[in-house]
Amino acid sequence: MRRALITGVTGQDGYYLSRLLHDKGYEVFGLVRGQSNPKIEMIQRELPFVRILTGDLLDFSSLLRALEASEPHEVYNLGAISYVAYSWENAALTTDVTAKGVLTMLEAVRLYGGAGARPVRFYQASSSEMFGKVQEVPQNESTLLWPRSPYGVAKAFGHHMTINYRESYGLHASSGMLFNHESPMRSPEFVTRKISRAVARIATGRQSSLTLGNLDAQRDWGYAGDYVDAMWRMLQQDEPDDYVVATGQTHSVREYLDLAFAHVGIDDWAPLVQHDEALLRPAEVDQLVGDASKARRVLGWSPTIDFAALVSLMVDADLARERGEAMT
Ligand code: GDP
Repeated sequence: MRRALITGVTGQDGYYLSRLLHDKGYEVFGLVRGQSNPKIEMIQRELPFVRILTGDLLDFSSLLRALEASEPHEVYNLGAISYVAYSWENAALTTDVTAKGVLTMLEAVRLYGGAGARPVRFYQASSSEMFGKVQEVPQNESTLLWPRSPYGVAKAFGHHMTINYRESYGLHASSGMLFNHESPMRSPEFVTRKISRAVARIATGRQSSLTLGNLDAQRDWGYAGDYVDAMWRMLQQDEPDDYVVATGQTHSVREYLDLAFAHVGIDDWAPLVQHDEALLRPAEVDQLVGDASKARRVLGWSPTIDFAALVSLMVDADLARERGEAMT
């Protein structure tokens, strides 16, 4: 039986990746931080097949122990402090976890694999946020990185370190440069879920308005369920490599609002949306739009859910939650 170890298993991507690997017959181990982490209960409820190990990306020996306990064929490093706005307020902690945590995990994998054990394949969750002040449109694997937030800088470190471990130690280490990917499991501080939840609450009479920042911000938004499939495909290749994963389409927050409100029959949403300067970022990234032609060509990957379908899926899931129905 194939075994996989996932860090960041309590996050959105951990959820979809665990399910994908479980469906493929893997034994799935999830690294969870802390003793009484409330998210452990969520994992036990939603992902009962995941075997929980405790550890921390800041703690080398806990990672080595997790590798010894799970004996994985594949390690997916999804763990990070991942919220861009928060990364300005907590730049040092973001650097410790999101940047140095990658090095700690790579080192644990190298030493574990180096002790005569079977070589482990490693996936690093890199991010389109590394492109920041974009140097070309669309962005591909060789576009110069110009991160514009502490989070982006930390991810750029992890990306380069992954490449370095591949080149220096021959590790089967791949880096997925994933553009924004969303789902009903996205946490509500991200704009897509913030909107889908508010729209569902407004439609069911539980909330009267919604406060947002920059409505003209644009992103290349895909569906998380599609993107975890790209991660898995990367680790099935004979050769490790870096891949952009994106839809190639860019949309604004305003367009997301149009579709989300239209989905519940509201055409004029302007009176329902307030603006708060505090939600603006110290620096915005520019036109993030990915060129995923390498992933399409080499991995045979392509997105199955477009922007309009994604918005509907997220609003429907939040409507179901608000109405107390089981979420699908
Ligand atoms: P990010 O790409 O990882 O930063 O994903 P987010 O979902 O947090 O933000 C996407 C874009 O939405 C950013 O450019 C934000 O400036 C913009 N945005 C506008 N209003 C809001 C808001 O209320 N919350 C968040 N999170 N983003 C907002």
